Parts: sequence; C-alpha cells; structure tokens
Amino acid sequence: MTFESLGLIAQLQTAVAEQGYETPTPIQQKAIPLILDGRDVMAGAQTGTGKTAGFALPILQRLSETINKKPRPVRTLVLVPTRELAVQVHQSFKDYGKHVALFSEVVFGGVSMNGQAQQLRRGCDIVVATPGRLLDHARQGNVDLGRVEILVLDEADRMLDMGFKREVDAILALLPRQRQNLLFSATFSNEIKTLAGRLLHDPVAIEA
Ligand code: AMP
Repeated sequence: MTFESLGLIAQLQTAVAEQGYETPTPIQQKAIPLILDGRDVMAGAQTGTGKTAGFALPILQRLSETINKKPRPVRTLVLVPTRELAVQVHQSFKDYGKHVALFSEVVFGGVSMNGQAQQLRRGCDIVVATPGRLLDHARQGNVDLGRVEILVLDEADRMLDMGFKREVDAILALLPRQRQNLLFSATFSNEIKTLAGRLLHDPVAIEA
C-alpha cells in the first residue's frame, strides 16, 4: 500500500515523502479514501497511530480542488482539547500542505486574543482551535464559521472530559448544516456515542 494508491495527489505525496513517511499507517489506509469520498467518519484512534495525517491529508486534497482566494472563508474547522494538540495539528497541516496553496491558523486560550484576531481576519482555509477560545473569537466577529465544509473533532473523548461540551454545542450551532464530519476518539463512552449520533450522517466506523 502506498500514499499514491490511496488516491492522494502528487503535491501531497511529495510532502509525506519529505516527512520521511514511506507507507501509510492502518488508520491512514482506512480513513484517507473515505474522507476523499466525502463520507462522515467515526474513527477509534489513539495518538501515535498517524491519525493526524489520516484526516489532514484528505482534507488538504479536498480543499485544494477548489481554492477561493478572495475572500478566503474558513472551510475546515478542527476542534482539539488542548493548546499542545492545537499547535501540533496546525504544524501538521503546514507540513503536509507545503505544496498546495492553502492556509491554516491556530487559536487557543491562555494568550492574548489580539494577535490571533488579526490572523483570523486576514483569512484562512483551515482553523485549528480549542473550543472556548474559538467561541470567543466567533462572538467578537473575528471569524465567520458560516462556510465550513468539513468539521473535525479530534480527541473528542478528552474534549468532553475537559468539560467542553457546551462550547462544542455552541460552535456546532454556528456551522452550516450541510458539511462533512469527522470524529476521532480513543474511547467510546455513551456520551461520545450520543455526540456522534447527533453529529455524524451515515458514518463509516473505522479503527486504527
Ligand atoms: P499522530 O498519531 O497523528 O500523533 O502521529 C504520530 C507520529 O507518527 C507523528 O510523529 C507523525 O509524524 C508520524 N507518522 C504519521 N504518519 C506516518 C507514516 N505513514 N509513516 C511514518 N510516520 C508517520
């Protein structure tokens, strides 16, 4: 199995080769074709399985098929539970997206809003965010989520454990109804299953 045989375009194959990846991991083998196909996915995957590339690569490919330069609306929103994960996922989008003309921004709490607000206002295709801070930016009018095409909840179990359910619900209410949804979680409690049931349309369940 190769990244090429999963249907990835040359620019993304080059980027993964530059990262030193030779073979797609099991979660990547399962997730990439489904996401390219536009399906909603519920994925059971721990950190270390290569889950980030499993969603970032096909998202970059789908977005690169139609690039809106001006204005550049947010087309993918990735919600994560922690600042550390936000920084890591944003870096992955930058690394894998090096040869496609897409822009990613990251926002998280605990630092000033101003710099993040300016970056958001410049426009970007992908936003990686912790829920509380993203909601603050949305409420201040720094970011419009009304054109999001793909939503990712990464480490959804940790997001609920950290008490972000209300913020996640408030963010969901700002998104268009018609969109692709991807939920990644290491564990599947009843609470996660309820969230998945509300969020996902005709999902495919996969495991690492
Ligand atoms: P993740 O599970 O997304 O946190 O990724 C875990 C680590 O695996 C990261 O350091 C990635 O750079 C690395 N990685 C992801 N996909 C591959 C791959 N196909 N081959 C080798 N390393 C990979």
